[in-house]
Amino acid sequence: MTLYGGVEMGGTKCVCALGTAPDDLGEEVRFATTTPTETIARIIAYFQSAPVPLTGIGIASFGPVDPRRRSAAFGTILTTPKPGWANVQLVDPIRQELGVPVGFDTDVNGAALAEYHWGAARGLDTFVYMTVGTGIGGGVLVNGIPLHGLLHPEMGHIRVPHDRQRDPFPGTCPYHGDCLEGLAAGPAIHQRWNQPAETLPADHPGWSLEAHYLALAVVNYIAVLSPQRVIMGGGVMEQVHLFPRIRSEVRDLLNGYIQVPELLERIDEMIVPPALGRQAGVLGAIALAREAAD
Ligand code: ADP
Ligand code: ZN
Repeated sequence: MTLYGGVEMGGTKCVCALGTAPDDLGEEVRFATTTPTETIARIIAYFQSAPVPLTGIGIASFGPVDPRRRSAAFGTILTTPKPGWANVQLVDPIRQELGVPVGFDTDVNGAALAEYHWGAARGLDTFVYMTVGTGIGGGVLVNGIPLHGLLHPEMGHIRVPHDRQRDPFPGTCPYHGDCLEGLAAGPAIHQRWNQPAETLPADHPGWSLEAHYLALAVVNYIAVLSPQRVIMGGGVMEQVHLFPRIRSEVRDLLNGYIQVPELLERIDEMIVPPALGRQAGVLGAIALAREAAD
């Protein structure tokens, strides 16, 4: 019998589950991400309690990480500001204790992989998966393979035009100030308007500014990567009214330069929410486990 284990390693919580696919996914188990020693021990204990020996394990982690299989640092969380977590090796202790192949990638690459196998990106050879939550991240899959390159893309830290007359907010990114994440992630919305993003009414001017920044980002991703679809998830994208605003502004910004139906009459299918919703994270880890086992 084949059974995989998946962990979605977040900065605040870990979500673990056993399964093989969306229609065969056990109950999710969550616990707080505390110290590395304690958290890794809980993950190991959870997988050891599986009803049958696991065929593989996948970890989809907050980053930055080293996801390059041939790198000596494969499986490590790199320069995170989260106390105690910089340079923590996640894969080795889990592989040693469980004795099974362990797949590892960023949380967004994991979610992108899940959408590719089971969700909104089935059959696409090139697409972008983007998340707008506590941070902004993105992954690119080409023929089902996440782009790694140096380490992995940092699609939230791109620079977008910042009109300080329209938006005097300086941005929240500790590295760049007003990069995309600094201007448009959930905490930036919260600080700019002094209230949590989820409490801003749909007609608040903050949302047209948000759609503007996200549209600028999507236009840049389209220009550089030529994706067949851009999937946008994360807490902030629960504001579904953002989708029509982003689509319309993307079309305006491109100004007819790229003449394909996907960006014109079919733009509703081009810029879309994730089909797997909140399950994409842990399913991404299951997808990484399957790949490691293969
Ligand atoms: P994380 O990025 O930590 O995994 P989320 O994707 O839920 O988790 O992102 C959390 C951020 O998204 C917070 O800044 C929060 O204010 C914002 N957020 C969560 N839900 C909503 C919502 N329904 N509408 C707008 N913003 C939201
Ligand atoms: Zn930044």
